Amino acid sequence: MRVFSGARPTGRQHLGNYVGAIQNYVKLQREHECIYCIVDIHALTSLEGAEEVSHLKGNIREMLLDWLAAGLDPEKSILFVQSHVPEVMQLHTMLSMVTPLSWLLRVPTFKEKVHSQKENVNYGLVGYPILMTADIILYKGEIVPVGEDQLPHLELAREIVRRFNHLYGYTFPEPQAKLTTVPLIRGLDGTQKMSKSYNNQVDLASSPEETVERIMSAFTDPSRKYRRDPGHPELCNIYSLHQFFTAGRVAEVALECRSAGIGCVDCKKLLAKGINTNLEPFRERRRELESRPDYIEEVLQEGACRARAIAEVTLSEAKMRMGLT
Ligand code: SF4
Repeated sequence: MRVFSGARPTGRQHLGNYVGAIQNYVKLQREHECIYCIVDIHALTSLEGAEEVSHLKGNIREMLLDWLAAGLDPEKSILFVQSHVPEVMQLHTMLSMVTPLSWLLRVPTFKEKVHSQKENVNYGLVGYPILMTADIILYKGEIVPVGEDQLPHLELAREIVRRFNHLYGYTFPEPQAKLTTVPLIRGLDGTQKMSKSYNNQVDLASSPEETVERIMSAFTDPSRKYRRDPGHPELCNIYSLHQFFTAGRVAEVALECRSAGIGCVDCKKLLAKGINTNLEPFRERRRELESRPDYIEEVLQEGACRARAIAEVTLSEAKMRMGLT
């Protein structure tokens, strides 16, 4: 079973990316043939002008450094950049001919984008689910690791695949969702999901000192105003991070929080220490990779080469089905 996943080039990865996606990527590559793609064309739907796109190259590099340092292995998985395999754009155009516009207009994220980027409601936003489908099926991906919020997109991809297969004969397997078991990781503000756009993240590549500083600035259980107040760990974003970085002491933290046996300052210090201990091997590996400036280019070239070999075969098959000889 082939796994496919794509991620936008957001640059340095944070703790939310790490526990929510990257650790899962690493685990999956032990069990399956995996293809992980940095989707730079998708990023263009939200960027406008030379200044905004000028960060793409650096973001791709930083992201790949984090992936590799976290354990993604280019010998096992195919790691590449979406635009390096241009066949995806042809398949996107072909799939757009089998996808009714009404399917695309009902997608909730399209409606959200129409509100959030009023000045730039471009065609790419409407076609986004078709490009996502092309990404997956160009490599005949059968398993797609997703969070619950992405399930509607995958369902739409499955509908497009069914329609293509119905109209032109069986060509593509229907991709199946593999739901991540990790709950949404909230950011340091305690309200929204951890994200660079909200500036509420802790980057994996932060120094130990920066990590301590960021964690100490985090919001906690809002009902705990004084040290003597009992806390509610289930409402606290710091506690949710304890579950991943101080696993051996998480039950004790919950107990002491509820009985006001520990204050938030000490609780945060404990967490920051746990994160730094856990990430030390990651940071060492990242430093080592940074000292080899050509390595990232080599990984991406090799990844694009391997991805393209699969893409060319699939595209020929799809063209033949559609009468484009
Ligand atoms: Fe959150 Fe820890 Fe404070 Fe409890 S003691 S509210 S878990 S930071």
